Amino acid sequence: MKVKASVKKRCEYCYFVQRRNKAGKRVVYVYCKRNARHKQRQG
Ligand SMILES: [Zn+2]
Repeated sequence: MKVKASVKKRCEYCYFVQRRNKAGKRVVYVYCKRNARHKQRQG
């Protein structure tokens, strides 16, 4: 998974997910149903 300063949807199947990490910080992920290589994490 790529770690980027800013995450973007790369196709129409990408979607945002917000999760909290262990430190309680909100982390934005992009998941993709079509292409797993589109998975990204902001950070
Ligand atoms: Zn995608």
